[in-house]
Amino acid sequence: MAESITIKKPFDSHLHVRQGAMLRAVTPISAAKFAGALIMPNTEPPIETVEQAAAYKKEVLAAVPGEITFEPLMSLYLTKNLKPSEIEKGFAGENGMKVFAVKSYPYGATTNSQWGYRSILEAQDVLKKMEEIGMPLLLHGEVHLNDHDEEEDPYDAERMFIADVLPRLLETYPKLKVSLEHMSSAEAIDFMEKNGEAGKLVTTVTPHHLMYDRRHAFSGGYRALLHCKPLIKTAHDRERLRYMVKKGLPFVSAGTDSAPHPEAKKFSSCCAFGVFNAPVALEMYAQVFDEIGALDKLEAFLSLNGPQFFGVEPSTETITLLKKDWQVTEPVVTEEDIKVWSVGDAKHGLGNEMLHWQVQQ
Ligand SMILES: [Zn+2]
Repeated sequence: MAESITIKKPFDSHLHVRQGAMLRAVTPISAAKFAGALIMPNTEPPIETVEQAAAYKKEVLAAVPGEITFEPLMSLYLTKNLKPSEIEKGFAGENGMKVFAVKSYPYGATTNSQWGYRSILEAQDVLKKMEEIGMPLLLHGEVHLNDHDEEEDPYDAERMFIADVLPRLLETYPKLKVSLEHMSSAEAIDFMEKNGEAGKLVTTVTPHHLMYDRRHAFSGGYRALLHCKPLIKTAHDRERLRYMVKKGLPFVSAGTDSAPHPEAKKFSSCCAFGVFNAPVALEMYAQVFDEIGALDKLEAFLSLNGPQFFGVEPSTETITLLKKDWQVTEPVVTEEDIKVWSVGDAKHGLGNEMLHWQVQQ
């Protein structure tokens, strides 16, 4: 049994760092353990121009401690305002400002997603341009509202997208580079196992969808810290996900979807969507890979497959994880004294939850 593992410093293919004081509190946490990340554009206002992406990148880099190298890859939000010319400009990296992806959220889905198209298929000009130049499309693959504006069952949202929208999208734009983000259902996993291809159709996996199923989410009342979209699903879905990552497929990579919220929003009666996992994500991935006997697949999943899709080099630095129990007991606190609780913490988690791997200091 391995007691430690040393891998190239990981890359997070899906990270929310927010803005302002929250950004300054959470960015150093990811930067300490990851060499870089694809930064999500669902800020307020959303990132729709290369100029906004450049300013946002500057804000992220300013929050990275001086001694650390952290490469934020910036993305644009697929809103109705997003212009094909802006995508082209960003992808070309004019004036040293490269944009690496465009993110699509389903209408009405999750935090700050109200600017999206009702259906991704409506964004024809944008998709055509992306296909032409090779700009990756990152998909939050869920259907939330039907044609009559009625809400769909949130547990079916991802499988509806997989059954209907995704095949049509791939058929209409056969050369489009696509990443299906945060897979959560057996149907999505089946689809990706059949159709996934490195550099063309890839997928990301969160630590919380690997670690938990809905028994945890409903353990002793509903667990706000596990409330996210896509919802944490059944034990079967989780097993299916674990079985897939164990295969070490080159088109599957780590995307934490770490998504911090202030305590007041997370623990309100209508708790905000998003799992904040930056303080424990790497450790959770290592724990699951250890449990399924796949530690030999961990480096490709964490550190190689993501950079390869975005066309950047993997890190030249390494990080070592040790098999050693520990627990999160304190929240992250912003400079405005706002508490941000991470998944797995002893107080709001599932109670005395132990993490079995930790990063060597
Ligand atoms: Zn996200």
